[in-house]
Amino acid sequence: TAAISLNGLAKTYANGKVALGGIDLDIPRGSIFGLLGPNGAGKSTMINILAGLVNKSAGTASIWGFDIDANPRNAKASIGIVPQEILFDAFFTPFETLELQAGLYGVPPKQRRTMEILRAVRLDDKAHTYSRTLSGGMKRRLLVAKALVHNPPVLVLDEPTAGVDIELRQQLWDYVRELHAGGTTVVLTTHYLEEAEALCDRIAIIDQGRMVANDLTHTLLATA
Ligand code: ADP
Ligand code: ADP
Repeated sequence: TAAISLNGLAKTYANGKVALGGIDLDIPRGSIFGLLGPNGAGKSTMINILAGLVNKSAGTASIWGFDIDANPRNAKASIGIVPQEILFDAFFTPFETLELQAGLYGVPPKQRRTMEILRAVRLDDKAHTYSRTLSGGMKRRLLVAKALVHNPPVLVLDEPTAGVDIELRQQLWDYVRELHAGGTTVVLTTHYLEEAEALCDRIAIIDQGRMVANDLTHTLLATA
């Protein structure tokens, strides 16, 4: 089974906008997969459907073999999502944010790896500082940490380096590579070809809610 499988996945918003026109896609386990496309292509809509934030209009989606309608709990447990927007409760510390998330996911206290995860994203020295005092880059790393609390086999990052400076981008790329080396299947959306090229072994290109390519990165670039 694929890490993520979409069949005829479609979304028309309430205003009539067709964001996804029926997408078929299998993302293999163990890959670093890039969803590449211009702004408005439908990338966030796809991620938000997987995250349970947007209802699909038609089609099916499964995560790690679990259909999001038939088996939402297992589907949700199998995926960690790093959203594009940085939104935190300013009066929670990173430690509290991760503990709260662990609670939401039913991770028993003894199995929580809160400090270990904070160390991995180099926020351990900020563990007990209010989040409002964190820099933008630190907040972004906290978002990644939050998505990893329940140890999901699939990590999805929505435009992870949009508006991020070069140094932090490099750090995030390195960390994504580490996670992948550790066995996590990674999916990221981006509108930067260079980002997909640098990180991803496979790339799917979507445009106006349609899939226009899906291939190994080097094959795709050879024919571009
Ligand atoms: P749905 O109920 O179809 O999932 P939403 O609740 O997500 O739709 O959105 C409600 C309304 O918000 C939409 O019909 C639209 O008018 C507006 N809206 C929100 N985001 C956008 C956007 N990015 N572009 C255009 N309209 C938007
Ligand atoms: P991307 O992430 O690739 O930039 P999106 O999934 O955000 O693309 O958007 C796909 C299309 O759907 C765009 O035309 C966008 O304006 C529209 N859209 C997104 N959210 C809504 C919404 N809630 N209501 C109406 N249209 C939306």
